[in-house]
Amino acid sequence: MTAIVRPLADLRGRIRAWKAAGESIGIVPTMGALHDGHLSLVRAAKAGCDRVIVTLFVNPRQFNNAEDFAKYPRTEHADAALLAPLGVDALFVPEGAEVYPPDHATVISVSGVTAPLEGTHRPGHFDGVATVVAILLNMTQADRAYFGEKDWQQLQLVRRLVADLKLPAEIVPCPCVRAEDGLALSSRNQRLAPDARARAAALPQALFAAAGRIEAGETPGAVLEAARAGLEAKGIGPVEYLELRDGETLGPAQRGRPARLLVAAWLDGVRLIDNVAVALP
Ligand code: AMP
Repeated sequence: MTAIVRPLADLRGRIRAWKAAGESIGIVPTMGALHDGHLSLVRAAKAGCDRVIVTLFVNPRQFNNAEDFAKYPRTEHADAALLAPLGVDALFVPEGAEVYPPDHATVISVSGVTAPLEGTHRPGHFDGVATVVAILLNMTQADRAYFGEKDWQQLQLVRRLVADLKLPAEIVPCPCVRAEDGLALSSRNQRLAPDARARAAALPQALFAAAGRIEAGETPGAVLEAARAGLEAKGIGPVEYLELRDGETLGPAQRGRPARLLVAAWLDGVRLIDNVAVALP
């Protein structure tokens, strides 16, 4: 069974011993309700580091909505059981008050990359993400931290944060893991009723089809307008955004640079996000 570790003093004791032995430390930050997407990050961390810490913290500061925070699945013991066969060294589950004591006053705000898309639709979300990632990197003293491409804009934010603050951790991106029908795995998918779950695959299908048409030379604006209408006709909506962006800066997409097509849309009261690479012709 994977050791569930708290408080920070306990984790720090373990980290001191690992560092003294010259061992490298990888972390996989999560909000729990683990699925194969998370486990793929853990496998990458195991392959790249001597010691692996999975952190489980449902970060209140990155939710814009109290109900979403309250409804977020919390399955700590099932999570520990899922991690057991993977040889994780610690499942670190800090208390809220240890991460944010009552006198906590520091907020980290990364500009630029966070402005469009999620930044527009979820005000404050990325300040919460940047702040908690900096705290977790400092708590764990990690050499490497593993993040999923599922949350593409978040990944670019974390890269910017680590570069700007000269944090010593290397950020390792990991590909998005999808269900057989193409839906990106997400802890929130559990909240989809069976009929909505069956319809959800239309989202990645529309995304991949639109990317293919843009790569074939069709005008992005027209392709995206048609894709948005197609999704809403299938009951996937509202579509909050469906946009082609520069893959790194999230500014306007430019020829000769990696581009990304990103979407956020509602289905059955659940907000789904996804993204795919686009090679501009
Ligand atoms: P979360 O628990 O949703 O905050 O996610 C924790 C980490 O797992 C983040 O780096 C996510 O990008 C990553 N992740 C979530 N879903 C997937 C997925 N389907 N494939 C790859 N990584 C994922």
